[in-house]
Amino acid sequence: MQNRSFCLVLLATLTLGCHSRQATDTSGATGSSSKTKIQAVATVGMVADLVRNVGGELVDVTQICGAGVDPHLYKPTRDDVQHIMEADIVFYCGLMLEGKMADTLEKVGRSKPVIAATHAIDPARLMTGDGEALPDDDKSHTAKPHGDPHVWNDVSLWSQCVDVIRDELTTLAPEHGDQFAENAAAYRSELAKLHEYGVNAIATIPEERRLLITSHDAFNYFGRAYGIEVRGIQGISTESEAGLQQINGLVDVLIRRNVGAVFIESSVSPKNVEALIEGAASKGHKVVKGGLLYSDAMGPEGSYEGTYIGMLDHNLTTTTRALGGDVDATGFQGKLAGAVDE
Ligand SMILES: [Zn+2]
Repeated sequence: MQNRSFCLVLLATLTLGCHSRQATDTSGATGSSSKTKIQAVATVGMVADLVRNVGGELVDVTQICGAGVDPHLYKPTRDDVQHIMEADIVFYCGLMLEGKMADTLEKVGRSKPVIAATHAIDPARLMTGDGEALPDDDKSHTAKPHGDPHVWNDVSLWSQCVDVIRDELTTLAPEHGDQFAENAAAYRSELAKLHEYGVNAIATIPEERRLLITSHDAFNYFGRAYGIEVRGIQGISTESEAGLQQINGLVDVLIRRNVGAVFIESSVSPKNVEALIEGAASKGHKVVKGGLLYSDAMGPEGSYEGTYIGMLDHNLTTTTRALGGDVDATGFQGKLAGAVDE
């Protein structure tokens, strides 16, 4: 709930921006270029960041879910709906990430472009929520609700969304098509470097220790892209006998593979991770919290980690260092704060 109120505060600030835009529309004498900007709404930070990078100065982006907000559970407020109604175009992630916004998005989609950023991703590269590739008969776009939505955790996959944003903005404002194309190409080349950094970084972790245990199944694409086994402990209830057995099973894996760190995510309760650490301690194996990973929301607004590149750089660098790999604490372009231990 505290996340929700954060989101409301954010929206209140953005509302002011929108009203002033309308004022300049009618005056015609302010000299402001904002009246000619495309007004875009994006649901989550990762999508908003795509639109900011491709749209540049030509697009105003209103973001619905801020830092720390869980998009799986987020219900649009009246203000959100208002922003969506006033926008020229709406971008969302898709693959049912924004499950509780689906009705609103569908309704609005009848009267303006409402675009899933992930819609052009090659279906053969989508995974189920269990970390498997989708079965053959499940690869049409109509089967999207069955795909794991956390595609941003594979940078090479997420970069396919850049072209979707470019094409949709160009349809809306063809006169700026060249600019959008230039921005998109520049951003994709940044993303390609980040992806390469990720592959090389994780490869420095000793092989048996390439195991990422986290509190939520958000990292299946991350594991496949960067060559690290992923086990989620979301959904395990530590109150039940079965849950305790699963925790004990993971403790044995940690000991056998000499893994000394498990990970907390920014938008999920850390309770199960703590149960795991205690379980290992009771068998004499020291496991620490390997640092906070950003799963479904980016870091604080205005920080490097509050950008998509910063978010992934943080996740890759934190994982690598906590599991015994060898990369600099400041990340792939020297911009991380370097404080990996929480
Ligand atoms: Zn998630």
